[in-house]
Amino acid sequence: MDGCIFCKIISGEIKTDFIFEDKKFVVFKDINPQAKVHLLLVPKEHIGSINDIGAKDEKFLAGVFAVIKQVAEKLGFDKTGYRTVINTGKDAGQEVLHIHFHILSGRKFSWPPG
Ligand code: 5GP
Ligand code: ZN
Repeated sequence: MDGCIFCKIISGEIKTDFIFEDKKFVVFKDINPQAKVHLLLVPKEHIGSINDIGAKDEKFLAGVFAVIKQVAEKLGFDKTGYRTVINTGKDAGQEVLHIHFHILSGRKFSWPPG
């Protein structure tokens, strides 16, 4: 989608190292990390947010969790723990309007979140 920063990363227009890539998803480091490990899992298809996920997207959602699990095991933080975050809309502070899943690890996280 025109002007979408994550579409530009996926197309290679903005050069970014991918920690993981398959036909449907990429995973790369967040430019402004909030923990020792801060990754973004992004689908190659431009989907704006959870609000745009359809009733037939079970396969897509299963794929998201499979990739998170795979990356956590590959990097070894499946053992120590990690937090996944999805910001949706203005009040949650969603800045990039291409759905993405934050994967954070390498420190203790508090609850409730800020
Ligand atoms: P949101 O607030 O939309 O949930 O999160 C967007 C995230 O994307 C932020 O954590 C921000 O640091 C990250 N981000 C924004 N632009 C870029 C970029 O060009 N490259 C990378 N690697 N991360 C980005
Ligand atoms: Zn996009």
